[in-house]
Amino acid sequence: MRTKQLRSKNGAVLELAKKLTLLFLLLTGLVVTGLPRGAAQKSRGAARPTRIPPKSVVLTFDDAVKSHVTIVAPLLKQLGFRATFFITHAWMNDQTDFLSWEEVARIHRLGFEIGNHSWTHGNFSKPESAAKLGEELQMVEKELAKVGVPKPVSFAWCGNAFGPDAIEQLRRNGYKIARRGMQPEIPYGQMQVGPSLNVQKHHPLLIPTTGDAYPDWTFEHFKKVLASTSLNEVIVLQFHGVPDVKHPWVNTPPEAFRVYMQYLKDNGYQTFAMRDLLAYYDEQKLPDDPLLKTQWSNPAPGKK
Ligand SMILES: [Zn+2]
Repeated sequence: MRTKQLRSKNGAVLELAKKLTLLFLLLTGLVVTGLPRGAAQKSRGAARPTRIPPKSVVLTFDDAVKSHVTIVAPLLKQLGFRATFFITHAWMNDQTDFLSWEEVARIHRLGFEIGNHSWTHGNFSKPESAAKLGEELQMVEKELAKVGVPKPVSFAWCGNAFGPDAIEQLRRNGYKIARRGMQPEIPYGQMQVGPSLNVQKHHPLLIPTTGDAYPDWTFEHFKKVLASTSLNEVIVLQFHGVPDVKHPWVNTPPEAFRVYMQYLKDNGYQTFAMRDLLAYYDEQKLPDDPLLKTQWSNPAPGKK
């Protein structure tokens, strides 16, 4: 009898303990799902991939050259590479050597990023010219929209010239990332290796060019550009036409280009479009790049 009473008493205690545990779980559950949700989201934001994969290369192609659709895009597609094509209307009236809007759309449909390179390809480094940039960006966006290409988030500085007022225009027009040249670090026109991208140091609207493809590039120089990177840095390559009939000072011969791209493929390089780099930036904590306050244009403007 006593044992039975004890058992039933134990049973009641057990029931109470179960209920208390359930209540505790419910309460903590509420706390867990209620409180840390914001924190979890915040930590997801903070947990963005800050580690740049080794052997990362950004491929960019400027000036809407015809060979972008006939040679470059098909080859990159075949290799499974990513890239950005920067479109300017400046030379598009010449339909023999430059792209049509429909051809730009074809490159987009192949999966490549289309970036804005302004309507006139002007020098936007000075405040008076920078004031025109917003309208020029929109003119390109309007033509892209007509052929089904979404509004770009990437821009390439024309003639590699940049300035604070134009940066403000890019911001106002929703541009998140922009590529400059190897300057001011490397003197214009010299076959040297430019800075590789460090997302802790370089602002996304002033992404430096590591390798600017000049016609006198050799395979040795190409490999030197690739070897220049440190851990957690990205190689940014700037090409024009492959070939570039009308602008021979930035020509890349197709046979040399095939060798460069095959080398990337054979040696395990990972290619990126410009917009892919945004994943490595924290928009709330962008680097305080001193070049944001700098007005820069090359001594030989209008050549690119
Ligand atoms: Zn250009």
